[in-house]
Amino acid sequence: MRVVVTGGAGFIGSHLCDALIRENHSVVCLDNLITGNLSNVEHLFGHDRFRFVKHDVTEYIHVPGEVDFVFHFASPASPVDFERIPIQILKVGALGTHKTLGLARAKGAGFLLASTSETYGDPLVHPQPETYWGNVNCVGIRGVYDEAKRFAEAMTMAYHRYHHINTHIVRIFNTYGPRMRPDDGRAIPAFISQALKNEPITVFGEGRQTRSFQYIDDLIRGILLLMESDEHLPVNIGNPNEYTILQLAEVIIELTGSKSEIVHRPLPPDDPKVRQPDIKKARERLGWEPVVPLREGLTKTIEWFKTHGV
Ligand code: UDP
Repeated sequence: MRVVVTGGAGFIGSHLCDALIRENHSVVCLDNLITGNLSNVEHLFGHDRFRFVKHDVTEYIHVPGEVDFVFHFASPASPVDFERIPIQILKVGALGTHKTLGLARAKGAGFLLASTSETYGDPLVHPQPETYWGNVNCVGIRGVYDEAKRFAEAMTMAYHRYHHINTHIVRIFNTYGPRMRPDDGRAIPAFISQALKNEPITVFGEGRQTRSFQYIDDLIRGILLLMESDEHLPVNIGNPNEYTILQLAEVIIELTGSKSEIVHRPLPPDDPKVRQPDIKKARERLGWEPVVPLREGLTKTIEWFKTHGV
């Protein structure tokens, strides 16, 4: 296939480009590089099935020639970006999703939207099945991301129902691995960077809030299975093993052998108290489940951070 990956120079997008190239597809990678980084894809430069185009997908997208599939992964996704670049986040979720769906329609291509567990907001149902409608504060700091993705899902379903496009929606839960930005502000890259420098580990609040972390390779495998499926409604892809943020900090200190101490900082507003995917649907419809345990994935991620200048 000839595929377009928006946000292809980002953390998840670049791993997706790698997997697609490995599976013998041709990849056109679009990214405006506001949070993506060319270093994530530079090893693909010169590959005859890979092309990079610097482009902001909120503007009209012109891709000459045939396109069989469009993956829309462009979006800042870190909580620190929610205050730094809120309007870009809203635009790429809304206008960017419209443009990428328009591209898929014009080319007769399939489409897969990278959505998020944030569509569930600060959930009142635990764990979260796809049938849960969520608890989102639309005017809160996280609202820019949550509502952009909720709009993107609605737009994707409208193109599926009205234009009969072969669309898919993956709801991605917390994912980690090599190529996360050390300064991206999220718990895992923050804690690893702090631990490797023996600096204090900044746990927000008491650290009793929970997350369920999946390794990037598990996610990419789930995305490729979803692409090939006939499932059009959203599918959760995440690892159901749930940890408190305090436990996460302790595991990272242990695995890095760090001398860092844990310090507490104020909890950001609307920070979800719990998060754990219900992955029954992915198991049944895709035959997928995560296989990489937290310690194994963290060890690989720590190695990458060590060799990439942290
Ligand atoms: N967190 C923390 N210290 C940090 C960064 C994050 O305690 O330096 C907390 C954050 O408040 C949240 C959890 O870790 O409760 C996961 O945050 P992350 O930014 O990784 O992703 P989120 O799931 O909130 O989008």
